[in-house]
Amino acid sequence: MNAPLYSQLPSHPVDLRSDTVTRPTPAMYERMLEAPIGDDGLDGDPSVAELEQDVAARLGKECGLFMPSCTMANLVAVLAQSNRGEQVVLEGTSHMYTSERGAATFTNLFYVGVPGQDGAMDLNRLADSVQSGGHKLPTALIAMETTHNNAGGTVLPLDHMQAVHAMGQERGIAVHLDGARLFNAAAALGLPPAEITRHTDTVSLCLSKGLSAPVGAVLAGPRSVLDRARTLRRMLGGTQRQSGLMAAAALEGVRTMGDRLSEDHVRARRLSDGINALGGPIRATSPQTNIVQIEVGATKMSNKEWVAALEAAGLRTRPWANTRLRCVTHRHTTDADIDAAVAAFRQVLASI
Ligand SMILES: *Cc1c(COP(=O)(O)O)cnc(C)c1O
Repeated sequence: MNAPLYSQLPSHPVDLRSDTVTRPTPAMYERMLEAPIGDDGLDGDPSVAELEQDVAARLGKECGLFMPSCTMANLVAVLAQSNRGEQVVLEGTSHMYTSERGAATFTNLFYVGVPGQDGAMDLNRLADSVQSGGHKLPTALIAMETTHNNAGGTVLPLDHMQAVHAMGQERGIAVHLDGARLFNAAAALGLPPAEITRHTDTVSLCLSKGLSAPVGAVLAGPRSVLDRARTLRRMLGGTQRQSGLMAAAALEGVRTMGDRLSEDHVRARRLSDGINALGGPIRATSPQTNIVQIEVGATKMSNKEWVAALEAAGLRTRPWANTRLRCVTHRHTTDADIDAAVAAFRQVLASI
């Protein structure tokens, strides 16, 4: 096995579909080769245990739990903190609400979407939604998301998070943070992740996005909740065996990859500036982190046609919502890639 070979992406086409395309680093492969492993479904896996403890400590929580995906981590966080017939209240464009509907169908709970701005829920609407009585159900959980994927990688202000957490605490409602890209939020704020996760009871962290691990997520929070979560993970089939191999790569990711994420943020800004400097009918959002959305609704092409045309010009993107594209910068994105991406937009614009 030649580890560095698999640690790179092909340089062409430039792939900005997602930060999930990141490959494990050579150091991750080395750690995987040397990682002590066991059976996490039998009597434990030492590398998984090390990852769970490391992430919990990093996020200022009592316990961590290695999960196969962030989707399952969010589902387990909900199930571990709710009873049938209750509701989950969350921002109306959040990933858990819009993209984890399938998971929601397994919960026997009602999900209430609250309108927000840049991913932050309107606090009056939130306060209204968590009142019980009448048609309203008891609220089991309030969930936040930072960075906020659909809002374009925006970072929740800490005073907003504090206000939401306080509202939960006053009413005895647990608060969960979908922190799939938590480390990007921490990089943008220039703070350790624990300064963000102070304002939540439980948090999920995706390992396979900017942190570059091959798979997985960690759910962290209080021991009482995590004990239930461990049982639920087994019920869902999420208990894995020699998963220390994956945990070892993830451990390298959480220890070393957070500090470099601000490079991705600089390149996202460079992409946005480059696209906006082209003029014409398309407009890029101003990124706070590594996600740029490009509005193409004023052109004669649909966003799916844009994706195909850009791909032919050497750039991979994804259609987003009705009239947008999404580009995400990551460890394999170079300055030259950004220039090539802007050139691809210029080429498609010139052809229409
Ligand atoms: C990607 C993502 C998830 C799901 O992560 P998976 O590990 O792919 O299941 C959850 N929430 C947000 C905000 C995400 O961006």
